[in-house]
Amino acid sequence: MKKIEHIGIAVKDIEASNSLFASLFGEAHYKIEEVVSEGVKTSFFRCGPNKIELLEATKPDSPIAKYIEKKGEGIHHIAFAVDDIYAEINRLKSEGFTVLNETPKKGADNKLIAFLHPKTTNGVLIELCQDIE
Ligand code: ZN
Repeated sequence: MKKIEHIGIAVKDIEASNSLFASLFGEAHYKIEEVVSEGVKTSFFRCGPNKIELLEATKPDSPIAKYIEKKGEGIHHIAFAVDDIYAEINRLKSEGFTVLNETPKKGADNKLIAFLHPKTTNGVLIELCQDIE
């Protein structure tokens, strides 16, 4: 893994949170993107070299809706950039981690993504992401 790519935060109302985080960073989000397959609307902020992703559910059975129902708003995942997501998935599986989707899927921000089950990562949902060339 190369670095933290972004931190994902689950929010109930992305419009309200966009204003809140714009005030926090002194800069508006640079992108809004809906990922229909995941049932989420996302927005991205830059803070120096770091990125924050806000996620709002767009349907009741979205993973984000379920997360907020169970745990409330807050940090949802940490995403790490990788060069070769297929190789990383195989490596992490052989290390004993549970990969939630062994076939990477297309996420927001032009990335291939895969998640590790929080049960195998001390309760932290970890996203691997590779830029789609
Ligand atoms: Zn993410």
